[in-house]
Amino acid sequence: MKKTFIVSAAVLFLIAGSVSVVHGWGTWGHNHINKGAVLALPQEMSMFFYNHVDYIVEESTVPDLRKYTMGDKAEGPRHYIDMEKYDYKIDPMPRKLEEAIAKYSLDSVNRYGTLPWHIQDMMVKLTTAFKQKRKTEILFLAADLGHYIGDAHMPLHTTINHNGQLTGQQGIHAFWESQLPELFGKNYKLYTGEAKYIKNIETATWSMIDSSYERIEKLLKLERKMKNDNPEDKQYLMGNDGTPLKNKFRQPIHTYEYAHIYHELLDGMVEKQMRLAIQFTADFWYTAWINAGSPDLSDMDNESLTERNIPYYKADMKAWKTGKVKGCKSDKEFPEVKGPKNEQPN
Ligand SMILES: [Zn+2]
Repeated sequence: MKKTFIVSAAVLFLIAGSVSVVHGWGTWGHNHINKGAVLALPQEMSMFFYNHVDYIVEESTVPDLRKYTMGDKAEGPRHYIDMEKYDYKIDPMPRKLEEAIAKYSLDSVNRYGTLPWHIQDMMVKLTTAFKQKRKTEILFLAADLGHYIGDAHMPLHTTINHNGQLTGQQGIHAFWESQLPELFGKNYKLYTGEAKYIKNIETATWSMIDSSYERIEKLLKLERKMKNDNPEDKQYLMGNDGTPLKNKFRQPIHTYEYAHIYHELLDGMVEKQMRLAIQFTADFWYTAWINAGSPDLSDMDNESLTERNIPYYKADMKAWKTGKVKGCKSDKEFPEVKGPKNEQPN
């Protein structure tokens, strides 16, 4: 849906009092990761998950709602891990939460973040839910797990410099994970092939964290150089008061040109991280199901529901095989910014 920037700016002004929020992928990203993962499932699982795809897509952002909207204090540390705080360069990271608590104390662990350990815990719970064939729990836990695996693929969720605040790059978090995919995500190729069994969940979880962490330097360095080379009014949409305009979460809105150049310099990094998040989410769901003894999921829904959904499933699968995840009507977190005519987003 097209909307002009003038309208958006007015809306922004009205809700400028809302809190500053840093997500792990925005709504667009989390929605597409969970939907992509449903499409990547093998035949024995796919129709059951597809029957509930709307729920799984909507639920993909609920963990962030628990944190920000509900103010659930226990939720915060599950979304990130500050690798630097854990002295990972001197000492290997504790592979299990109990080891981390024994070494650093519960209080510190809750401040430094628990994302990889929470993913492992969710896997245990999801496997149990599959074993017991508890439909609501399977769907709820699977959708939640997709959120945390998504967060683990957002590089800035693995560092203390999570919003570029230590390097003078405030706002880069939402820029990278929300504004860029909202602008350019429609051209992403997200197809992953079919989900695969993962022998060692612990190793796989840490490999996500490690590879996300390795990407931080590049993504910060590229933007830092651009920041130095461009005056503020080339970087941001500017308000009448001469300061950058902000979105509803009080994050600065970058210009289309700036976003486009940065996205090109990243050379597919955002797209690749999204694709990996989809792949790992589907792999983890599949692995939990296998480890639960591959229960039959086809008898958990009415046949009529499945029959009704088959044509939609087929259409989504056709698009999926060309790399597209279709049908998510995600709330945009940034107003549409204008680019050159031939590069108009959407
Ligand atoms: Zn999150």
